[in-house]
Amino acid sequence: MPYFDYNATTPLHPAALAVWLETAGQAWHNPSSPYRSAAHAHALLEEARERLAAVAGGAPEDYVFTSGATESNNALFDYFARKSPPSARAVVSALEHPSVLEAAQSRFPQRTTLLRAERSGLVRLNNLESTLSQGNVVLVSLMAANNETGVLQPWREALQLCRAKGVPFHCDAAQWFGKLPADVLAECDFVTGSAHKFGGPKGVGFLKISPNQRGFHGQCGGEQEHGHRAGTENLPAIRAMVAALEAYTPRLTPNTAGWESARASFEAALLMAVPGAIIIGANSPRLWNTTMFIAPREANTRWVTLLDKHDFQISTGSACATGKEGPSHVLAAMGFPPDAARRALRISAGWDTTPADWDGLLAALAKVHAEFKN
Ligand code: PMP
Repeated sequence: MPYFDYNATTPLHPAALAVWLETAGQAWHNPSSPYRSAAHAHALLEEARERLAAVAGGAPEDYVFTSGATESNNALFDYFARKSPPSARAVVSALEHPSVLEAAQSRFPQRTTLLRAERSGLVRLNNLESTLSQGNVVLVSLMAANNETGVLQPWREALQLCRAKGVPFHCDAAQWFGKLPADVLAECDFVTGSAHKFGGPKGVGFLKISPNQRGFHGQCGGEQEHGHRAGTENLPAIRAMVAALEAYTPRLTPNTAGWESARASFEAALLMAVPGAIIIGANSPRLWNTTMFIAPREANTRWVTLLDKHDFQISTGSACATGKEGPSHVLAAMGFPPDAARRALRISAGWDTTPADWDGLLAALAKVHAEFKN
């Protein structure tokens, strides 16, 4: 069944599954226990940290394993709220995933500045500089790639602006890892990653912390993760995550033209097959796997249901927002009215999606469009 919802989650990479099974079977001891088999589990944990740093850049001790991107993002805002004066401000883009947006707004109530977005899907950076000049900003967060539109954000420019003012910069790169080369992100002070977006298991991820912020502490209750995060480490999942990232890394290049060609043909054909469709962020730098478009008619939920009947799995946008009332906050931030946002569909391909899969999806979309017309 052709799957086009890789931004929601991905199937386990076979290398990750093999490592998960091996570790769960053989290295199940608590890495903190005081005997040799536990020391072996502890050594495997530290080896995973070294291997993650080898592909994602920075030093092994910069990496804290977490239960995923949601925890990483929440822990970060928690930490800054705890250590900052009550007047301190946070700055985040209006395009962020709810785990950044809501974490910022709950820990910095009335003290979170939202960076607005352009119709193109890009954040507006022009007011970051002026916001930073006003002082009192303790953390800036801008995602690497948007989960709904796929639009790549100018995180390097934001990082430079923050550096000039000595303000820590965080990048939620949950959608970047596994799709683009990882190591470039290591320049950021804090980086969030989530295994299940790149062929690893669900419920595991990481936060890269700045060497200048070694006092970072997430959830309380234990001294695991070098004192950065309490809780017994999920070693099988951690090792599987690293195996998945290592497996995809050799296939990734900064030049994504090869990856993009099948999508480009699909988008051109989509505009013919579904007249009136609007591709979001069409002229912006985007993840090679993502197409979001506004359908000319009918609610996105109806498209998704009918496409599912034709055996194609696509999404209305952010899976995390499913079940929530109202249209996408990302499209709203880009200036799309609610009625357009309710017709938005997200297609996100994977590493092994074939031209035949894209052709099949196009045919299914054309069929559904014809069914609606009739
Ligand atoms: N940030 C972004 C950009 C995401 O796309 C997601 C998942 N949709 C998350 C955070 C949350 O990730 P997790 O499922 O690991 O908590």
